[in-house]
Amino acid sequence: MSNKKQYLTPAQFKAEIEKCLGCPNKPCMKACPVGCSPQEFIGFAKEKKYKEAIEAILNRNPMGETCGLICPDKFCMSACTRKNLDFAINIPKVQATLMKNYRSFAEKKRPESQVTKDKIAVIGAGPAGLAAAKELAENGYITYIFEAKDHIGGALKYIPEERLPHEALSADCDGILSSPLINLKLNHKIENPQELLKQEYNGVIIAYGEQNAIKLNIQGEEHTTCYKDYLSQPEKYKAAQNIAIIGGGNVAVDCALTAKSNGAQNIEIFVRRRLTDMKISRQEFQELFEKEINITALTSPEKIEKNEKLSLFIHRNHIVENKAVALSDTTIELKGFDLIITAIGSRADKLTEDINIIMAGDCKEGSSTLVEALASGQKAAQKLIYNIEKKDN
Ligand code: SF4
Repeated sequence: MSNKKQYLTPAQFKAEIEKCLGCPNKPCMKACPVGCSPQEFIGFAKEKKYKEAIEAILNRNPMGETCGLICPDKFCMSACTRKNLDFAINIPKVQATLMKNYRSFAEKKRPESQVTKDKIAVIGAGPAGLAAAKELAENGYITYIFEAKDHIGGALKYIPEERLPHEALSADCDGILSSPLINLKLNHKIENPQELLKQEYNGVIIAYGEQNAIKLNIQGEEHTTCYKDYLSQPEKYKAAQNIAIIGGGNVAVDCALTAKSNGAQNIEIFVRRRLTDMKISRQEFQELFEKEINITALTSPEKIEKNEKLSLFIHRNHIVENKAVALSDTTIELKGFDLIITAIGSRADKLTEDINIIMAGDCKEGSSTLVEALASGQKAAQKLIYNIEKKDN
C-alpha cells in the first residue's frame, strides 16, 4: 500500500517540472552518482512524452522509483540551479511520481545484447548486486544472482513501509529480474566465491552488503537489540513502549519510525555528535519531529543495566577538532527502557579482489545511500566485463 505523501499530486508535479530551467551544463546530472539526467526526463515530462521520460530514468537507474522515494537531497537537488531563484526542484519526487504513474509505458530499457556471453555469478541481491546483474545482462552476460536469504532487496527491506512503500521496491526489483538473462537463486549462501570460478562461472561480483553489526563495546551490551533483528521482526517487540535507539544515521531513523508504527509511546535517539552531523535528510528530520521522536545529541552510552527494566548510562560529549570527546563528570542514568536498539552500522568481512572477482556496494565502499550502491554495482560490472573481454582479446 503506497503512502500518498510519498508522491506528487498532479498539480504539484506540474508545478515542479515547470520550474526546470534546462540548464545547459546539467549540474543535476553531474551530481547524480548513476549519471541520471533530471533535465532530460523532466524535459520529456513537460512534453507529455512519458515513455521517453521513463526510458531516460531507466537508462541510468534500474531502481528509479525506489531512489526517487528515498534519495537524500544531497545529490541532484543540492546541485539544482533553481535554488538560486527560489527552491530546488524536488527532483527525487518528480522521478518517483513519473515511475509510479508511467512505468508501464516503457518497462524495457535498452535492448539486451542478442549475443549471449559468459556466465557470471553475483553474490547478494541487494541494490549493488541487482544493479550489477542488470548491467551484466545488458551487455549479454548470463547472470546468476545468489542470495542467502529468502528475499531480495537487501537492507532496503528493512526500511519502513511509510518511507518506502514495498510495492515500489517490488516493482523496481521485478523490472530488473524481468531480464531473460538474469537468474535468481534464493536461499543460496556462497561460502567461497573462488569455488564459483572453478564451476561454470567466468567472473564473480561480490555484493553481499555489510553483515556484521558494529558493537558498542560497553558493559551490559548483551541487553541491547541489534537494528537488523529489530527491523526484520518488529512485531516481536510490539510490547516495548519506551525505546532508546543508539545511532545517528538512516537505520536509526528507520528503527524510530518503525517503533512509532509499532505502537511505542516514548522513543529517544541518542547521537554521539551534533544534530548537524547526523547523516540524514531534511525530510527524515521532519518525519522524526512530526512523530514526536526525541533526539539527544552529543551523548555516548557508557553501560546498560537490567533490572525490571533497562537503564542506560550516558555521558555528554563536546566536539574538539571535529571529534566527539567525552565531558568528564556528566554521566547520568536514564531508567525505564523496555528496549535499547543499537543502530550504529555494520561492517563487512574483508575479501580480496582479483581480475575475475570484483566487489561492489557496501561490502566494498562501506555504508552508502541506495543510489551510491547502484553506482558501485554498475561500476563493478563494467570493470569485470572489461577484465574478461581484455583477457579474451
Ligand atoms: S539543475 Fe535543476 S533547473 Fe537545471 S536542468 Fe537540472 S533540474 Fe532543471
